[in-house]
Amino acid sequence: DYAGVWFRNDVRLTANPALSAASQVNGQQRDIPALLLLCPQQMEAHDWAPIKWDLLCRHLESFVDDAAAKGISLTIEVIDSWSNAAKSVKRFAQKHELTALHYNAEYPLHEQSRDRAVTAVLEEHGISVERHHGSLVVPPVLTTQAGNIYQKFTPFSRAWREYVSQNGIPQTDTLPERTAVAPATMPAVDYPRRDSSAWVVGEKAVQQALRDYLAAPVEGYAAERDIPSLDSTSRLSPYWELGLLSPWQAVSLLAEMSPQFPAGLNKGADTWLNELIWREFYLHLMQHVPRLSHGKAFLQHTDAMRWHRDQTLFEAWCKGETGYPIVDAGMRQLASEGWMHNRVRMIVAHFLVKDLLIDWRWGEKFFMQNLIDGNFAANNGGWQWSASTGTDAAPYFRVFNPTLQSEKVDPDGSYIRKWVKQLKDCPAKQIHAPAAWLKQQGRDDYPTPIVDHKQARERFLAAFKAL
Ligand code: FAD
Repeated sequence: DYAGVWFRNDVRLTANPALSAASQVNGQQRDIPALLLLCPQQMEAHDWAPIKWDLLCRHLESFVDDAAAKGISLTIEVIDSWSNAAKSVKRFAQKHELTALHYNAEYPLHEQSRDRAVTAVLEEHGISVERHHGSLVVPPVLTTQAGNIYQKFTPFSRAWREYVSQNGIPQTDTLPERTAVAPATMPAVDYPRRDSSAWVVGEKAVQQALRDYLAAPVEGYAAERDIPSLDSTSRLSPYWELGLLSPWQAVSLLAEMSPQFPAGLNKGADTWLNELIWREFYLHLMQHVPRLSHGKAFLQHTDAMRWHRDQTLFEAWCKGETGYPIVDAGMRQLASEGWMHNRVRMIVAHFLVKDLLIDWRWGEKFFMQNLIDGNFAANNGGWQWSASTGTDAAPYFRVFNPTLQSEKVDPDGSYIRKWVKQLKDCPAKQIHAPAAWLKQQGRDDYPTPIVDHKQARERFLAAFKAL
């Protein structure tokens, strides 16, 4: 028997069950053939942000050497369309005379149908295919006692914790030393790139970032995570998305903090674990609710909503020129860093949907096109939660007041001052609604609010109630 690996959003050598399984089959004496397919057309269709692509390219520069040193014969191939994936994978498997191929699952519908097509072709040619779950701690098997999927987070998280207490944390053995092979060459890929150098790459550095975060900062997470100026969250999100890290590694480190894991963690670590469970919740939903992959609302009746197709207002939001400082600060952070603080993501999403009455899918797409951590499941979940169209969604009558939110999450205005340069001298008292201060200063370089929140709120409530 001779097994190969198909790498996808799991370009790592550790905590990678597909790779470990192939390694076991082949034994230490033989190499491990591996394939990575890059498909710029598909990345474009899936709105990959140029900064996310840059992060992956930078990571691949070290990954090809790390893989070669471990005896992994990696081929990186560019294909035109995912419909050609089966052809390429078959060619690769036949060239290496594989008897088995291993890969880690991806959960959106399109990825699943690509993988089914690949599996069918390989199996037709007598090559077995095995799917693993390396990007989830709990594979997408959790159901209620009645056998349904969980539609609410809290019972899901209880079931998740129960599953982990009973089954333990998934682990893989360290890969044995093998004779080194020649490193893969990175083919030319025609896709725009945007500098991601503020983010570390390479498996060692990323694992160190995880360890550093869990060594201390996580303790303050529960108290500080909603204050964007403190920037006290882990900023690890791009690494799960591209698979430079597996959540298995995070929970293994958390388990070292508490013998009763998943119970017994300090408050900060426990709250952080809860966020990792949110991530798994949305991936479970992707696996089980195909309409989410078709741009449909989870709460189906909300698809009847008549959204405003107002390009001018949408553009003001995209550019961070709404006249609501907290919204503009968030959108400018996104433009500058390719990342936005979670609490501010919620505020800007509420604002787009509820104050501007613009379709959440427009915001979802814009986020994907710009986020370094753009992840279909988490992004869709976050947008639908904010738009009150999703599972667990904020009830529709909960409409964030952007000014009150701003006072709450950025009381001294330092997050706003960092991102909205026009307001850098504005006193804290006036910064959340700065129109009077700007007038006093004789300034017209920052917009007045593009919408009246009170009226917008009434308009949204009426429209949603009518559904
Ligand atoms: P931390 O606070 O350190 O959390 C640790 C990890 O938990 C994160 O890295 C992430 O993997 C996971 N996590 C945290 N919050 C959530 C959440 N609400 N839902 C699911 N997983 C979560 N996250 C993405 O990874 N990709 C996206 O495209 C994305 N789009 C979003 C869009 C909207 C409108 C909203 C409201 C949220 C979105 N999120 C998305 C979730 C969340 O904002 C980010 O995961 C988080 O800000 C990443 O920063 P961090 O790594 O410092 O998170």
